Amino acid sequence: MRVLVLSPHHTDFLWLRSLLDSDPEMDPDVTWCPDLIDCDDLIRNASFDVIVWDCAFHGGDEASFLQYLSVSSDEKPVLALSAESPGERAPALLAEGASDYLSRSSLDYWAFARAVRCLWYRQQLSASAQGHLGRELATGVINRDLFFDRLQQALLRAERGGQRLALLHLNLDDFRSINESFGYQKSDQMIMKLAERLRRALRRVDSLMRIGGDELAIIIEKVEDSLDITRIIRKVVSALDDPLTVDGQTLVVSASLGVATYPESGDNAENLMRRANRAMFEAKRDPGTSYRFYDRQLHITAGYQLRLEADLRNALRGGELEVYYQPRVDLATEEVRGVECLLRWNHPQRGLVGPDEFIPVAERSGLIVPIGYWVIEQACKRLQESAGLGFPGLVFAVNLSFRQFHDRKMTETIFRIIFNANVDTSLLELELTESAMMHDPEYAQRCLRELNQLGISFALDDFGTGFSSLSNLQHLPISLVKIDKSFVQELGHSADAEHIIRAIISLSHSLQMSVVAEGVETEGQLEFLRQSHCDEVQGYYYARPMPWNDLVQFLTSRGQSACLQK
Ligand code: C2E
Ligand code: CA
Ligand code: CA
Repeated sequence: MRVLVLSPHHTDFLWLRSLLDSDPEMDPDVTWCPDLIDCDDLIRNASFDVIVWDCAFHGGDEASFLQYLSVSSDEKPVLALSAESPGERAPALLAEGASDYLSRSSLDYWAFARAVRCLWYRQQLSASAQGHLGRELATGVINRDLFFDRLQQALLRAERGGQRLALLHLNLDDFRSINESFGYQKSDQMIMKLAERLRRALRRVDSLMRIGGDELAIIIEKVEDSLDITRIIRKVVSALDDPLTVDGQTLVVSASLGVATYPESGDNAENLMRRANRAMFEAKRDPGTSYRFYDRQLHITAGYQLRLEADLRNALRGGELEVYYQPRVDLATEEVRGVECLLRWNHPQRGLVGPDEFIPVAERSGLIVPIGYWVIEQACKRLQESAGLGFPGLVFAVNLSFRQFHDRKMTETIFRIIFNANVDTSLLELELTESAMMHDPEYAQRCLRELNQLGISFALDDFGTGFSSLSNLQHLPISLVKIDKSFVQELGHSADAEHIIRAIISLSHSLQMSVVAEGVETEGQLEFLRQSHCDEVQGYYYARPMPWNDLVQFLTSRGQSACLQK
């Protein structure tokens, strides 16, 4: 890469050159030019790939100087530098023909090296049909315009559908030496192979294209949240980990991935490309295959989630998961009718992690399936024990996530678990939300019926937060409705909450379903629920979720006090 620096000060030139020199991959040849006369000569007779123009270099009127540079250099890209912020200067300079603009105050190695490299890259692309890149462009292997088009289309779709989108920019590390040792053709085959492998790892809606000699870009559409993106990145990274074989020669490659997401990192194709590119350069700092999100917060979350997922895999095997039990109290008799089984994770470093943090990760990774069965097993074991401890008839409620329905052997597996545990299935209750049944209603209904035939009953969890009406669920074997804690906690603050709770209770009763109110914390809430004929309550007012031994103690002491009262 040949760079011409137009700057009146030698110290500035040395500084800029040192910034470029710190990028080991660039190895640029940097020439200094302090005045106009030399400049003309240099530009016409030496060929530079990128021109760096410090606006303090006197060129008279800026617009005409830029025009002059463009004509005499045969349209080489010009990177303009000056003291003002980009907001103040960039629009005018870019309109006048500069290719990019950087403010001196924010000039560091990353910003500068990236900008120069980007320009150089663009320059190479447009530099006709010479060299590898040109050949690939000419043969249609690489088509940046087409990619740009696709990205723009995808962005439109995302915007219309209110969805997120992620752009992954993948650059192979040290491709130059791969090229040198394997030769151009083999390296090329290797990239094609890698692209093929990545394509298999991606979903059908994702599009992958080669946008440079050693660069691929992937558009990931229809993602709900950063977890989705994280999962896809994980697949890409693990696809890169396997060695590649071309003509009997094996090679291990690593790559740097930059990720920019819509809407967080930009809302047009150009910005997203630039930011994914920038993130990719940052990923280059880390050894081996690595990724970076342009958006820092997303980067932190993604890293956190990937680690959490890896840890969770070990947690089940390592016995770090534990079930807590929260009592459900019958309002008429004040007796504990049952308990809800709630997962906890004793993380070796982080301490006790709540389910809201790790259940989504477990769902997304499919780990919820084995974890879910483990919870049912625990519940059955405790159900067995509780009769011996003097609490027969205690109902054990277990939460079932919609992802567990994805396991086509669900009913069979649950049947095997309860058969092995030899428990009274009428004491086992499964809690599910409306959304769990909405994904594949027919299949879900079949599962519910099959399990119901085994004696298991069902509760509708978080009721009131979804959209379905109770009468729609009439034909399902649901015997209990749990009012979401958000309504209970609104009691005393909103008349709406009172009306809604009363309506749910009376409708449920008319459909022969019992009602449990969740999240009861105060005497006032309890009183309202009692007057509204709610059947049972669950909440901190009576007890928090607790380990099994504490529950046994809790039940024992309640039993004793009840005896004393009699
Ligand atoms: P959920 O099914 O709605 O469980 C009730 C949540 O409310 C529990 O949170 C419980 O600790 C909390 N809670 C109970 N009483 C009160 C109260 O008076 N005030 C307040 N503020 N909160 C109360 P937890 O244990 O953090 O569980 C959160 C969610 O994680 C559960 O919500 C459930 O959806 C999910 N979860 C827990 N265990 C499992 C499991 O084994 N499998 C699946 N699929 N999901 C689980
Ligand atoms: Ca629940
Ligand atoms: Ca709930």
